Amino acid sequence: MAIASTRAKELLCSRGSSLLWRLSSSWLRGGLGMAREEFPGANCTGRRMETIHSDASGASDHFKVAVVGAGPAGLAVLSTLLDVGTDSILWIDPHFNAGRLSTYTEVPSNTKVKLFQQYVTTSPSLNRYASQALAQFDSQDPDRGCSLGLAVRMVKTLTDSIRQHDMNRVRCSESFVKELRFQDGKWHLDSGEVVDQVYLATGSAPSKYRSVKGVQDIDLDLALKPSALPDIVSESDSVGVVGSSHSAMLALRNLVECKVRPKKIINFYRSPLLYAQYMDNWILYDNTGLKGEVAEWAKEEVDTGNLEAKEIVTRICVKGRSLDEQLELWRGCSKLIQAVGFSRNALPKIVINGEELMNVEYDPLNGRIADGLFGYGIAFPEQTTDPRGNRELAVGLWKFMRYARETVSKHSLHLS
Ligand SMILES: Cc1cc2nc3c(=O)[nH]c(=O)nc-3n(C[C@H](O)[C@H](O)[C@H](O)COP(=O)(O)OP(=O)(O)OC[C@H]3O[C@@H](n4cnc5c(N)ncnc54)[C@H](O)[C@@H]3O)c2cc1C
Repeated sequence: MAIASTRAKELLCSRGSSLLWRLSSSWLRGGLGMAREEFPGANCTGRRMETIHSDASGASDHFKVAVVGAGPAGLAVLSTLLDVGTDSILWIDPHFNAGRLSTYTEVPSNTKVKLFQQYVTTSPSLNRYASQALAQFDSQDPDRGCSLGLAVRMVKTLTDSIRQHDMNRVRCSESFVKELRFQDGKWHLDSGEVVDQVYLATGSAPSKYRSVKGVQDIDLDLALKPSALPDIVSESDSVGVVGSSHSAMLALRNLVECKVRPKKIINFYRSPLLYAQYMDNWILYDNTGLKGEVAEWAKEEVDTGNLEAKEIVTRICVKGRSLDEQLELWRGCSKLIQAVGFSRNALPKIVINGEELMNVEYDPLNGRIADGLFGYGIAFPEQTTDPRGNRELAVGLWKFMRYARETVSKHSLHLS
């Protein structure tokens, strides 16, 4: 796979009046790229369709809506549907455990606490559980970041509360959707349910270029866990960190601050660090620039050349080098962390009137994939345009909520 550019690689194509955005194999800047990758839970055996709540009318296999995924985006879609009065919703996820966010409990947020609070208070359905869900933010400065662990707790509390108290409107299924079939104006799930609309909020996972023989890959998720690193690296290691995104800087900082610091830490980067800039009422490079405490650290330690002067980190610019040339450089490391974006998880097989949809494209202004099928969250992010005309893909809890409120309510008008 060719190295993708540091900007979102996008292919904009028009079909009728709608703007379709086909995400290319990688979207790097900001560490949030997309490419197909196997879903880690895809090896769940068989069809584990475990219905854990029934709706008030008893077992039914017809629902108005199915929401696939219970990460922050799935929860934003679900709560919006509840807020607009949708009364029969099937919510599906194998884990119901705050999605991928639950992996990042040791990561400092790049968004302010007040945006997590806003995620809850904006939705009346979520706001009912605000006292419990937001309690952990009481001692936090709303204008600063916090540990993502607090946001994980928030999403889990909200999810558990809905599962417990909204079962008359939401039936939860701990399962994995493998296939969606559109026929006779309805969507049919492989588990047998029939629905009018499907919202996919199926998330993404870190992407990788290639592995290099003799160089051990360190999973990005582990590199983002300071408590795990001392068991993974040793003082005799030369560890490479590929990328200059938020995730790359987090991994770099974790290595530098690790109590077992490798003898060599090398950062391979293609473009200079980019920082988000707070303007009057908006943020320049909101989704692509570094933000929060990692940005402060990178500005002080990396950009000033401090860490290089102290011979703790070596930075090597690989701009213009082919992937093969970069692989050659990586061979000098004993271990490698690739922080090169995020990839859309494998989607369920989608079959429309007997024909499989091979290239899943979506409208980045409203999430539409096909009739009655929509995509949300990091797998199908909204495209935003800032006052300077820069286009970005918007990822973050509050952005998912704002976008869901703008668009899901319109889609739901088509429900009978
Ligand atoms: C390092 C890092 C730092 C971040 N920091 C912040 C921050 O400070 N603030 C912020 O707001 N955001 C932050 N984010 C972004 C944000 O939290 C994540 O991108 C978010 O978890 C994505 O949410 P999602 O719901 O789209 O997907 P996910 O969280 O990936 O959830 C997808 C869910 O779908 C389920 N699923 C997938 N396929 C199927 C299927 N076929 N059937 C059933 N279920 C399925 C999965 O089990 C999973 O639960 C950060 C992200 C990263 C990587």
